[in-house]
Amino acid sequence: MIKDRGLFFAKAKALIAQNIQGRTFFTRGDLIRFISLNPNVEESVDHLVTLQTLTERRYTDWFEEPDRGRFHPKAPANLNSVWDIASIPPSSFVSDTQIYPIAGSQQVFTCPVCSGDGELIVVCHSCGGGGRRVCYRCAGTGSQVCNICNGSGMRRRFDNRLESCMSCNGSGRKVCFACNGTGSEVCSFCLGKGRVTKLCSKCAGVGRLIRYQAVVCEFKPHEFTEVVSRWGLPLKEMKAAEASSTWQTNIQPSLPLSFSQFPQEVQGAINSVANQAKGLEAGDTRFIRTQLSVKAVPVAHVSFRLHGVPGDAWFLGKDFQRVFIPKVPFTFETWLRLKDWISVGLAILSLLGFVGFALTAPTIYLYGSDNMFWLLLFCCAIWVISGMILLVRRLIAGLILFAVTISILAALIYWVARVERYLNPPDEYTSQQHFFGKRMAWHS
Ligand SMILES: [Zn+2]
Ligand SMILES: [Zn+2]
Ligand SMILES: [Zn+2]
Ligand SMILES: [Zn+2]
Repeated sequence: MIKDRGLFFAKAKALIAQNIQGRTFFTRGDLIRFISLNPNVEESVDHLVTLQTLTERRYTDWFEEPDRGRFHPKAPANLNSVWDIASIPPSSFVSDTQIYPIAGSQQVFTCPVCSGDGELIVVCHSCGGGGRRVCYRCAGTGSQVCNICNGSGMRRRFDNRLESCMSCNGSGRKVCFACNGTGSEVCSFCLGKGRVTKLCSKCAGVGRLIRYQAVVCEFKPHEFTEVVSRWGLPLKEMKAAEASSTWQTNIQPSLPLSFSQFPQEVQGAINSVANQAKGLEAGDTRFIRTQLSVKAVPVAHVSFRLHGVPGDAWFLGKDFQRVFIPKVPFTFETWLRLKDWISVGLAILSLLGFVGFALTAPTIYLYGSDNMFWLLLFCCAIWVISGMILLVRRLIAGLILFAVTISILAALIYWVARVERYLNPPDEYTSQQHFFGKRMAWHS
């Protein structure tokens, strides 16, 4: 129940604005201004019915593993039914698998893969069985470039005359020191044997395998849910909302249920989830534990208008702190109206002022037309003043505007300086030309 209507409406409006703001790009302030709430609030208590059950499936199976001498039977030899042994179900609704080896079912035998050796002799993958690999130093050629003459075969003497390299006898190449000229080296992986031994993966090196029969107990959790909502609210919202009360009990899905304390629709939902769960018990599967919970969630429905377009919001939970708005009430028209056209106008005005300034400033600077000075001042004022107002209204937009215009201005100043240098060359440049002229004259 809503206790304080004023407080509820203030919070509701803020929550709607926050929700829409997260899904659009309008500011919260604008949205708060344009949202109006309908004073008629419809309240209900909706329910979420959840049935959680843990099932256990049992069967026997054969297992084979390396015989490490750790076979400990956990089920008797003369087992009549897989259900005769006691398993340990997990304490919560989680998956688990337990294996109970049956006494006397085990057979130990020699590993057929390695014939009991525990290891296998295989061809060396590094050399392909040859035991040698191509020399990494000379790439199989058996020789390398002479390091004294760098392959030229010639050497400069102290008196600057050339002579034949003594180190390589003028050939430019020397015998590879790594392979002694053979072009190949011993495989370091198999040490030249061409074969390597590796652990048998079948028996993990033990050499023996053990085969035994075991009872397998598979635990699996299941969940069935049903929402009883006047508004058809989605399951996700009902799950996330805070309950005003939650009622829980353990049940037997196969037995008839009767919970007269709940409204008719909730009782129907309880029977529906129990019926869905019933199908799980078949063949070798049994119920271990089944829990039924009924969560009561207070819901308040508020209709609102966003700039005239109708929308619906639901507030869920004990303190109505969760808002659900299935669709943002937006048409192209609201979108246009919500756009801040004053800021758009300010940005355009400021840019026009800047363009005017950027066109007049170089003209005055380069050609000195003084009568254009007032136009320059006017354009500059429009650029800066409308830009500043934009900066106050929309900080980011204002910053972008000034970042762009000031960058263009910097580029403009650089360009004007270059043009000016071209039109009026500096003095040193002229004098240098004179100097060259004189030098040329002196030469001729
Ligand atoms: Zn083996
Ligand atoms: Zn040499
Ligand atoms: Zn070599
Ligand atoms: Zn090898």
